Amino acid sequence: MPKVRSSNIGYPRIGEKREWKKSLEQFWAGNISEQDLLESLKSIRLTNIKKQTEAGIDLVPVGDFSFYDQVLDTAVSFGLVPDRFDYNGGKVDVTTYFAIARGTDSAVAAEMTKWYNTNYHYIVPEISTPPTSLVHNRVLELFNEAKEELGTKTKPVIIGPVSFVKLSKNLTGQSEQELVRSFIPLYATLLKELEEADADWVQIEEPFLNGQVSNEDLDLLQEVYAQLDVAAPSLNILLQTYFEAIDDYEAVVNLPVQGLGLDFVHDEGVSLEQVKKFGFPTGKVLAAGIIDGRNIWRADLKEVKDIVDQLSVIVGEGQLILQPSCSLLHVPVTVELETELPELLKEGIAFADEKLQELVALTKVANDEQDEESLEKSSAAVKALNESSSRNNEEVRSVLATISEEIPTRTIDAPERLRIQQEKYQLPLLPTTTIGSFPQTKEVRQQRLKWRKGELNSEDYEKFIRDEIDKWIKIQEELDLDVLVHGEFERTDMVEFFGEKLAGFQFTKFGWVQSYGSRCVKPPIIYGDVAFVKPMTVKETAYAQRQTKRPVKGMLTGPVTIFNWSFPRTDIPEGQVVNQIALALRKEVEELEREEIGVIQVDEPAIREGLPLKPSKTKAYLDQSVGAFRLSTNTVQTQTQIHTHMCYSDFEAIIESIDALDADVISIETSRSHGELISAFEDFTYNKGIGLGVYDIHSPRVPAQEEIDRNISRALSVLDPKLFWINPDCGLKTRKEKETVEALRVMVNAAKEARKQY
Ligand code: GLN
Ligand code: ZN
Repeated sequence: MPKVRSSNIGYPRIGEKREWKKSLEQFWAGNISEQDLLESLKSIRLTNIKKQTEAGIDLVPVGDFSFYDQVLDTAVSFGLVPDRFDYNGGKVDVTTYFAIARGTDSAVAAEMTKWYNTNYHYIVPEISTPPTSLVHNRVLELFNEAKEELGTKTKPVIIGPVSFVKLSKNLTGQSEQELVRSFIPLYATLLKELEEADADWVQIEEPFLNGQVSNEDLDLLQEVYAQLDVAAPSLNILLQTYFEAIDDYEAVVNLPVQGLGLDFVHDEGVSLEQVKKFGFPTGKVLAAGIIDGRNIWRADLKEVKDIVDQLSVIVGEGQLILQPSCSLLHVPVTVELETELPELLKEGIAFADEKLQELVALTKVANDEQDEESLEKSSAAVKALNESSSRNNEEVRSVLATISEEIPTRTIDAPERLRIQQEKYQLPLLPTTTIGSFPQTKEVRQQRLKWRKGELNSEDYEKFIRDEIDKWIKIQEELDLDVLVHGEFERTDMVEFFGEKLAGFQFTKFGWVQSYGSRCVKPPIIYGDVAFVKPMTVKETAYAQRQTKRPVKGMLTGPVTIFNWSFPRTDIPEGQVVNQIALALRKEVEELEREEIGVIQVDEPAIREGLPLKPSKTKAYLDQSVGAFRLSTNTVQTQTQIHTHMCYSDFEAIIESIDALDADVISIETSRSHGELISAFEDFTYNKGIGLGVYDIHSPRVPAQEEIDRNISRALSVLDPKLFWINPDCGLKTRKEKETVEALRVMVNAAKEARKQY
């Protein structure tokens, strides 16, 4: 038995060129049969396993691959199908599986929400009655498939019962503990069958352990794993955690399992300290997550080797496994395809395949199969990148050094500012506006693509954009909206657009990661000091403003959202990177002010999702985020009205931080939690402008005026009508022109009606 083994927690399912996405979408469009879909997904799945085995990984996962989402896979294995879908027991078929994820004409899809603090979204299981049987041992099937087709003995991976229940909506009326208990016999069957199929290891994931954990949770874990351990005595359970170090090290290492997976990358050396301080139980396996599974930087393998050496002394011979810190689902597949990246950067990054190579190299060195000198190359690449001039922009650093001490504050309080701004703009009571984007029609996308490919010259492209702006300014005036927008026709994605214009960002060609369902995103890489280069939004915004007497809102993506939706550098503190972005945006704000744009919206939809898993870290994150936002926006003139916008999550928990942003006006998406959000404002005196979205933009449906009336009066039962704005939930870029205009017309009518009553 080798001293050290290598393992992987999960591999990206999308394929090198998003073959997975293409197959799914072809199937949904009715262009390929179910048989074709099954075959093409099987081929991707087996290719992934083969790639990992050939790379030299000892424990290759199965069950990480999915048709949509791993949480949904777990739910259907237990026959957990929400009541509104047709289901009569047994293995859930492909049609029903996708119906739960995507909805049908007659049944709404299950809710989707963020997977911990990542940008991956899972399907939230709805448990109305406790499950009674394992209807499909999916991992067993996949384990057998890999064995038969490839001759590989893989490591099945599943989500553990405690985390699974915590991730679900418990509609049973039972307590969380009771519900977890009803899963134990089902998991026991699953494990027993894996044992009979001769599996050695099963990875059971309990990522809730990386957040807030109570004593009851720890007792429950003890109870659950004691029973699972006896259910399949010769199958080894590896209890896997990720994204942070765990707070309850001593309790967790002593659980009745054969191995424990910990994150040694995040949380600044905490896991290593814990192992050194408390030791590690003899006879147990430690799966050490030593390569960052969430970010794309190449590791300095000599430094990592040092951690491996320290662990080897403490963990028993043959009991140490090296692996990524979490599933590689969160990073792109391979750097190989990135033929256009600057050499220095290309050498400095590692996607999934390269991360596996790093693990194999470390394992070989640890087993004396390869000498330590072979790790030198990675250290040199990391050093070269760190020392490059792109990473170190003296000017940015020196400006940052002068301001980072103090967060700017607007000179006058919000109520007085609003009074001064109102004198200037003379807006009616309950002013109406939209969130920024108007429909990105096929034509808009085609013209942009042509221009990007060089088939359309910049002059013609800009003319096209101006025509779109003209058209929509007219529409907005005709609708009688109060604060207009230019429509964001020139933008692809709200982060990419800015990243392409700021210094310090780099874009990949195939660096896709799954965000939800078949939707993949290509996060930019923040590799160097971020700096303003030249105005980014002024041309279109100022043009739009010249076409109308009504105020046109400038539209920027905020520093926290740009940071959270990128792969940020890690060689300097996170706060510094966010502040660099904030300072660059401040310059853009100043440019807009110079062009007489007096209303500027800085969108922060992603502020909530970056909230750390551990409550002990919440304050630092929120302070940093609020600070960055204020750095960009709080030095404006009193007359300049700063708006912000948030969506995608529940905001009750961070309402004080929202207040501290000190934006003059905020618009928040509320269609998913109307009642809850409003009651949050009941106990909180919010003295700034606020618009709670009055209709849901996610569906093409044109809302009835009564619906909007109801939403307005519900909000105004709590909020001051003098501060209330009327706007849709979010941007309208995914909608069609006709439905957009109709819906906005209903909204403006509702506002006019409401004005008579308040
Ligand atoms: N201004 C952006 C838009 O309207 C906001 C998008 C978002 O909140 N996600 O599209
Ligand atoms: Zn939004």
